[in-house]
Amino acid sequence: MLLRVGVIGVGYLGQHHARIFAGLDDVELAGVADVNKARADEIAAAYGCASFDDWNEVVERSDAVSIVTPTTTHHEIARACLLAGRDVFIEKPITERLDEARELISMADAGNRILQVGHLERYNPGIVAAAGLIQKPRFIEAERLSPFLGRGTDVDITLDLMIHDVDIVTGLVQSPVISISAVGDRVLTGKIDAVKAWIEFDNGCKALITASRLSAEKVRRLRIHQEDAFISVDYQTQEVRKYYKGDAGIAFDVISPENREPLREELKDFVSCVRGRSCPRVSGREATQALEIVLRINDLLKQ
Ligand code: NAD
Repeated sequence: MLLRVGVIGVGYLGQHHARIFAGLDDVELAGVADVNKARADEIAAAYGCASFDDWNEVVERSDAVSIVTPTTTHHEIARACLLAGRDVFIEKPITERLDEARELISMADAGNRILQVGHLERYNPGIVAAAGLIQKPRFIEAERLSPFLGRGTDVDITLDLMIHDVDIVTGLVQSPVISISAVGDRVLTGKIDAVKAWIEFDNGCKALITASRLSAEKVRRLRIHQEDAFISVDYQTQEVRKYYKGDAGIAFDVISPENREPLREELKDFVSCVRGRSCPRVSGREATQALEIVLRINDLLKQ
């Protein structure tokens, strides 16, 4: 049966949600909404669907909804979609506040709705390939640096960029966080623009996560140190390298997984969870764990 999916917010990222849903088998892009009606019209014309400036119109016409508006609006829109009985995909971070995220989880549980959150690095082929090589990591270093583009500045960098690596690292370590320390600063936006966090886990693993929107170059890198190997992942090229002690010194293997668009993999998975009524790889609960950690980092930076 055809699944009708609507996209709310078709700015930088939402246009790609619209493009991907429009191209998926057995999915109809039921409509797009944006407060900028000219932008909604442009995207609707490109992908052949109806356009609205009021997102309620899209909710009415859809079985499932993708919310790609600024983070500050996620809670209000997702709440209304769940109340209307829709399955919901929300871009990361799930919400700005923990009480808002928890309310969405309860509503989805009570209404038996799918609630998936857009931590798309979980679908990065490099991460998927590396996951099979990683065993009991001892020290992980993640770097996510971007030139200043002015996007995502409605929230701190912790909620905008760092949350991706917090989600990946906690997913790899699978142990409770026992302590966090952080340094960071508000430089250009009045919000935290650059941050480094040191996280210690109950099983002894430690992680250093760096995020900045004040970098000359774009860097997206993860390095995992474990007993017998050092594994590096470049999120951008999707290439994985495993370094280990060989007969003639340090040797390395290069793993180049088939290049795939992580967003397409993620949205296909959402459609499959909606159809199969199965739990998404990143449910509201996982997304809220990552939110909780970045909000703890923000609290440390207020002191
Ligand atoms: P953007 O500003 O480019 O686009 C947001 C769009 O939403 C704009 O077109 C705006 O007019 C529209 N909008 C604002 N309020 C609205 C409302 N109430 N109803 C309908 N439309 C509304 O922002 P973006 O960079 O596309 O980011 C959007 C969301 O996606 C954010 O939550 C961000 O964190 C997330 N994001 C995720 C990733 C990722 O890697 N998963 C990457 C970029 C952005």
